[in-house]
Amino acid sequence: MKSILQDLSRGELNALVESLGEKKFRAEQIYLGLMQGKKISELNIPASLRAALTERFEDEPVRILETFVSQEDGTEKFLFALADGNLIEGVLMKYKYGNTQCVSTQVGCRMGCKFCASTLGGRVRDLTAGEILCQILCVNRKEGGTLKERAVTNVVLMGSGEPFDNYENVVRFLRNVTAEGGIAIGARNISLSTCGLVPEMRKFAEEGIPLNLTVSLHATTDEERARTMPIANKYKISEILEACANYFEKTGRRYIFEYTLISGENADEKHALALAKLLKGKPCHVNLIRLNEVKERSLRAAEEKTARRFLEALEAQGISATLRRSMGSDIGGACGQLRASYIGSQNFPDGKFS
Ligand code: SAH
Repeated sequence: MKSILQDLSRGELNALVESLGEKKFRAEQIYLGLMQGKKISELNIPASLRAALTERFEDEPVRILETFVSQEDGTEKFLFALADGNLIEGVLMKYKYGNTQCVSTQVGCRMGCKFCASTLGGRVRDLTAGEILCQILCVNRKEGGTLKERAVTNVVLMGSGEPFDNYENVVRFLRNVTAEGGIAIGARNISLSTCGLVPEMRKFAEEGIPLNLTVSLHATTDEERARTMPIANKYKISEILEACANYFEKTGRRYIFEYTLISGENADEKHALALAKLLKGKPCHVNLIRLNEVKERSLRAAEEKTARRFLEALEAQGISATLRRSMGSDIGGACGQLRASYIGSQNFPDGKFS
């Protein structure tokens, strides 16, 4: 695979254009074109410069292979092909206040959570910063968005992959996606979800990127957590809570816990009370979601009424919480389901598009 031009920051792009012996305004033209989601071959620049760029860089690092639209709520699900043929997926959820895009950070995942489809085939490779950014650029373009009037207003790093298992590329992506003059999505409109990699959570608190830090908790004791999340054998819940407190101290940002309700596992009233005890007085919010059932896994979703009872029990204890609607369930909304359903099918025998 060639390099990815969209990995570069604005400053690095300027230096590249200068090293090619081109005038400075060409860098501006290239940057704006790329941020509008154009391929290199579509840029309005001299043919010789286009050729010099496509010789070294991928013309279209990420392209939309298929789009599925939910009949229930208008959620769109995208299957993307990367330049090396690997497949990733993303979702665009439509809310009153704007559109939130969920992006992937790795091809597959190696965290091994028992409820998640993304990790079924392990981790294939990390995405580069530009490959993460291009998911947004091409969806913004497809939806008719521009740099001034973005169709993608919010971003969540909750697609396939563990963002902090691909730390350097993810931080580079965050700097580039928030940069003034580009697509410029503010850190406050970005949520990063981690299964709780404590050293990286602490490192990230020093980066000066005040986004919404979200941690997948899903249990209230380390033993229970380890039943569905292997990472619980490495980092304790107490260490995660300390890292969250540190993030709040450094950034002033409230943090969020995700708690997926799984029948017979973590969804009873006693779990709600234990969760409230764990989080009492902390500057946090809890996002509850009923498990999105994955056919390769035996875990079952908690019932709707169980979920509502869980929410009420948390609220009665003074914990700020919301029960999320599962969006786009008719189009395989859960993490990794779409890619998983393609892998092994006739057209994509090894999970790649060729
Ligand atoms: N690796 C990161 C981000 C990706 S998953 C993380 O672990 O946080 C985004 C969220 O979806 C996580 O909270 C994850 O635990 C949850 N999730 C994964 N599979 C799910 C499923 N089948 N049903 C409901 N939530 C799921």
